Amino acid sequence: MEHQLIFVFHCPFCNWSITLPRHSPLGTYGGHEYRSSALWPITFLCAARQQASECSSEIVQSEQLQPHVEIETPAALWQIVGACGQENCRGRSAVYTWYLSHASGDAVVNLALKLNPRIRCSGSHDLTWQTKNMEATKFDF
Ligand SMILES: [Zn+2]
Ligand SMILES: [Zn+2]
Repeated sequence: MEHQLIFVFHCPFCNWSITLPRHSPLGTYGGHEYRSSALWPITFLCAARQQASECSSEIVQSEQLQPHVEIETPAALWQIVGACGQENCRGRSAVYTWYLSHASGDAVVNLALKLNPRIRCSGSHDLTWQTKNMEATKFDF
């Protein structure tokens, strides 16, 4: 009997299980291996605890897909990309969060602005989040 695997990682703050999409810019899977992309390590923003942390792809683990449990959770993995607001800086960075799948992109951008996650910019400073030049993208399972 063949077991179908899904790949997840656990939030470093609240231990919530984050299901990775089968195909996303973060990586792909189809068999028994998660092929992570060069976007890792990622900065994960916990909406519940309002904290952010860098996560390496080494924390990704496989889990048995429970065929009788609905995969359609009302939450999804979101990517929020922002351009640094500091003068003469062209840095762009992304954070990832687990949030309502039916939320609007604007709501997710506002969440990130409110929580203001600290993230290293390309220079020697932290990224300055700003309302303009921010974009939230949902990664569907
Ligand atoms: Zn969390
Ligand atoms: Zn910058």
